Amino acid sequence: MPPAPHDNNELMTNKVAIITGGGSGIGLAIAEKFVSAGIQTVIVGRDEQKLKTAAERLGTNCHPISADLTDLAAIPALVQKVIERHTRIDILVNNAGINMKKEFTDVTDEEFDRILHTNVKAVFTLSREVIKTMLPFGKGNVINISSMASQYGIPKVIAYTASKSAIEGMTKAMAVELSPKGILVNCIAPGFIATDMSAKALNTDPERKQKALGRTPMGYMGQPADIGDAALFLASEQAKYITGVVLPVDGGNSIGF
Ligand code: NDP
Repeated sequence: MPPAPHDNNELMTNKVAIITGGGSGIGLAIAEKFVSAGIQTVIVGRDEQKLKTAAERLGTNCHPISADLTDLAAIPALVQKVIERHTRIDILVNNAGINMKKEFTDVTDEEFDRILHTNVKAVFTLSREVIKTMLPFGKGNVINISSMASQYGIPKVIAYTASKSAIEGMTKAMAVELSPKGILVNCIAPGFIATDMSAKALNTDPERKQKALGRTPMGYMGQPADIGDAALFLASEQAKYITGVVLPVDGGNSIGF
């Protein structure tokens, strides 16, 4: 007898996901895809109003929780709150991140630390706490977000580059240790995607924008929804034999001439 056809949406329904930075840009687009697949989607960010607006737009499967993830000591309680409300966590998307464009020699120790704190330390602490709750079920899915800054050298983003290279290394280290326990860990490396963050870096610097697009074979910037589609795929049953990969979603930017 042929196997019963799988309805992917049916398999995703009632899964529970946390998306950090889910109130705007790429995180919001991932939340939108998850919600429409029937996933109970918790979005986390600092700006309560932004989260509320997003949740109102996405509907009853979207659940906002405001938290500053740099407060590492508060992360266990945050994870506990999600467990109390939703009983378990199936998917974690570590999307929240900050960038800073500044000449290498002008970057202070405090600035370097601030970027690493948000982009690396908070990702580690949140992942550790969420994974503790996944282990008893023997399954889970973690998706990290890196950047083209860890595929090749981009000037004036030293701290951001260090942080995103750490994310790719951590993805591999987590995947080898956790995949035998049923937890898949992957990473998406977005190319140049139209959001507030990229607008800040590119719109005041036409030369940089031209350089980014000039080495993108597809010739235009991606949309946040393009990353949403890739994240939904990595979280789905269709990706059940994929772990430890860094998937560029970049219009070919990372291999562009
Ligand atoms: P946005 O600035 O739109 O989104 C960043 C999100 O992170 C915001 O929702 C913000 O929410 C949240 N955030 C930042 N700091 C904290 C914190 N301390 N605690 C909780 N939430 C926080 O940028 P993008 O959507 O463009 O970026 C999303 C991810 O994609 C980032 O990791 C970025 O590095 C990566 N990326 C983006 C690219 C692009 O071209 N746009 C390219 C490559 C990678 P709030 O302000 O409410 O706290």
